[in-house]
Amino acid sequence: MTNRKYKEKLDDLLLVCHKNLYKVDENLIRRAFEFGFNAHRFDKRASGEPFFDHPYEVANIVAKEIPLDDVSVAAALMHDVAEDTEYQIQDIRAEFGDTIADIVDGATKISGVNFTSQETTQAENYRKMLLSMVNDIRVMLVKFADRLHNMRTIDFLPADKQMRIARETIDIYAPFAHRFGLANIKWEMEDLAFKTLNREEYDNIARELKARRREREHYLNKFARPIEERLKKDGINYELSARPKHIYGIHNKMIKRNKPLDEIYDLFAVRIIIDSNTEKECYNVLGIISATYKANSDRFKDYISLPKQNGYKSIHTTVLGPDGKMVEVQIRTKAMHEIAERGVAAHWAYKEGVAKIDEKLSNWLNWIRDIIENVADDENASAQLMESFKLSLFQDEIYVFTPKGDLKILPKDSTPVDFAYEIHSKVGDHCLAAKVSGRIVPIDTKLRSGDQVEIITSKN
Ligand code: MN
Repeated sequence: MTNRKYKEKLDDLLLVCHKNLYKVDENLIRRAFEFGFNAHRFDKRASGEPFFDHPYEVANIVAKEIPLDDVSVAAALMHDVAEDTEYQIQDIRAEFGDTIADIVDGATKISGVNFTSQETTQAENYRKMLLSMVNDIRVMLVKFADRLHNMRTIDFLPADKQMRIARETIDIYAPFAHRFGLANIKWEMEDLAFKTLNREEYDNIARELKARRREREHYLNKFARPIEERLKKDGINYELSARPKHIYGIHNKMIKRNKPLDEIYDLFAVRIIIDSNTEKECYNVLGIISATYKANSDRFKDYISLPKQNGYKSIHTTVLGPDGKMVEVQIRTKAMHEIAERGVAAHWAYKEGVAKIDEKLSNWLNWIRDIIENVADDENASAQLMESFKLSLFQDEIYVFTPKGDLKILPKDSTPVDFAYEIHSKVGDHCLAAKVSGRIVPIDTKLRSGDQVEIITSKN
């Protein structure tokens, strides 16, 4: 690699890796960088920039914003190689081994999934299907980063493509990122997608936020002053800030509560992050706040004693601040904050040594599985996600359904006859014809994932 600019880029990425990851195999990152750079050397993005700038930025997002390990960074650098260049998965496998090749393979296959189908039945079965596909969680991390960078650079695409990608991002990727506990990624995806889908409303809210910034800062200072005095007196080190407002979140609240921006935005939100890592200190801070302002007991939530499923911990309290305005206060430690913003994996990668990370990773994977398993029925977005995962990540298996919606896993290239025997040998023996998704087909038709198969039997 002779290009000086890219030598510098590689150095920058290594720096980011060292800053955010618990261990960095520099040689691996270098090799992946050169592999990606070479594979994409003739390609350009829609913006006219060298294509490799995209995987490079995706790798940066993985390292900085969803930091887990150097393997995911390496995979990110090569995530589009199989889709867009003369190189294939087996080239990556030969060069980098199975783990990285499988992550790139998984990411490539998700790119091929058509998420725009709007079917809403059989969520349960698609959920099972998804579970069997999420084999290595790092596939999803790379996909989140990939989608985020595509959203950041979406302006260069044709308008209809922008709309489709933005819709998919807001309906599927953002809620899924939320399930992973990746709050920052989720918010940024939503705001970028909302900006694409509803530019006028986005600009309106953004303008309002800007116009009121001064006035809000003034109010927050007034609110914070007596609390900060007490915190200092008690020797508590902390950081107090206004909680960032996300445009899509405000828009959603306006719709949900059917209220103008004025009233939604009138609710102030403050966050206090404590330096020390003791939970007890969070309660001390809560005591100080309650002693200063009258609390609204209806809106108190203690996610420290009862953490959310995705690992989120924090105390939420709402108090009556100066001038009769309600103020939401969140209290948490630095470690809790990191988990809230970047997910639990980031926290481990940063805190734990090499030895523990594998164990943690597999625990985390189990935890993700639990979450997906426990998705409530009313979660429309997650249902859509499951619905849409019709393409198996594993090429050697297909997922098909009985008329009642039960899932059957069959080897690739199976036919309705195989399906019939899978149900019962009697059904197989008497198989006469088959309907696939409502249509009569020859019984030697190859089934595909997502097909619903009905067997018509004869008595003979
Ligand atoms: Mn990509």
